[in-house]
Amino acid sequence: MGKGGGVAVVAELTEQGDIAPISLELLGIGAKLADELDGELSAMVLGCGLPDVAQDLISHGAGRVYIASESPSQDDPDACLELLEAFRARAEPDVVLLGHTTLGQDLAPRLAFRADTGVVTDCVDLNIDPETGLLRCAKPIYGGVAIGVYVVQTKPQVATVRVRVGKPVASDDRREGEVIRVDIDADSRSSRYSWIEKVKEVTPGPRLEDASVVVTGGRGIGGPEGFEQLRDLAKLLGGALGATRPPCDSGWVLSSCQVGLTGKIVSPNLYIAVGVSGATQHLTGMSESKHIIAINKDPDAGIFKVADFGVVGDYREVVPAFVRKLDDLLS
Ligand SMILES: Cc1cc2nc3c(=O)[nH]c(=O)nc-3n(C[C@H](O)[C@H](O)[C@H](O)COP(=O)(O)OP(=O)(O)OC[C@H]3O[C@@H](n4cnc5c(N)ncnc54)[C@H](O)[C@@H]3O)c2cc1C
Repeated sequence: MGKGGGVAVVAELTEQGDIAPISLELLGIGAKLADELDGELSAMVLGCGLPDVAQDLISHGAGRVYIASESPSQDDPDACLELLEAFRARAEPDVVLLGHTTLGQDLAPRLAFRADTGVVTDCVDLNIDPETGLLRCAKPIYGGVAIGVYVVQTKPQVATVRVRVGKPVASDDRREGEVIRVDIDADSRSSRYSWIEKVKEVTPGPRLEDASVVVTGGRGIGGPEGFEQLRDLAKLLGGALGATRPPCDSGWVLSSCQVGLTGKIVSPNLYIAVGVSGATQHLTGMSESKHIIAINKDPDAGIFKVADFGVVGDYREVVPAFVRKLDDLLS
């Protein structure tokens, strides 16, 4: 039986059945919070929990791992919610952390509703208030120009955390923990989802949300051809291609490239924004990047306000010169 209290991390699995990088990052954050709360860190596994996964989570700091004997596919959020609810009822954590992923964004508010509590999404910093013992969640607001701090007053406090905010705890195979199997009838509630078709998007290089370098093009790129140059630059840097909304809406690039309020949230080490004006809806998705370079022909473009380095010029001249220089340096 779970002893109650502490921090529970919801662990997502990759298609290959490994622990998703965000879940290891959450364990890093969870370990710090559990320490501050003097509570236990547990992990709740979504998807088919293989024994290796449980041991891996323990090696990365989980004291208890909740796993279902027969778990549903992560493709069915309704079934995942049932599973999470069963885990939560068993573990009774004070804090539940999910990744700010597609699945996490779907599950977190619904889990909070079921538990009659509140949720803070897209957090970039979390700590425990030493006076109240409650979780304080910081998140960028107003397109990233300010940070808001929120405290859910009821337990469990549920939060989704942006990727790359946490650092995984180093794996140690000597760590010991308890694996708790929870039997639920995941199919007892009929799912409201049915899959019509699944199309696997084949993109070379890392996924946009995991990439440590993102090269993003905006409307200023002018068409799909210009994006080829950016794709080459991203490849050279081992990064991923991003876009603002207009190029996605115009069909110049896939909509899965969109960064921003209604796109993906990224926080790479390096973000290169080319032909991007810096609208708040776009900044929301990238303002937490560690280093930002902007290339824009308008010296007054808003993107320069958040950029660490800026180049004023036509990207058609700047990008090829940049690529030539990089080629020289890397060869
Ligand atoms: C509800 C809602 C949600 C939204 N969600 C998103 C979202 O998730 N992501 C998002 O990005 N937007 C989103 N938007 C749209 C957002 O408001 C902006 O319209 C959009 O971000 C602008 O994209 P942009 O910077 O590419 O285009 P523009 O604002 O048109 O800027 C183009 C820039 O390119 C520069 N430029 C032009 N030619 C060149 C050249 N040759 N070389 C260098 N620079 C050049 C120009 O100086 C200009 O600064 C949303 C809007 C709404 C209302």
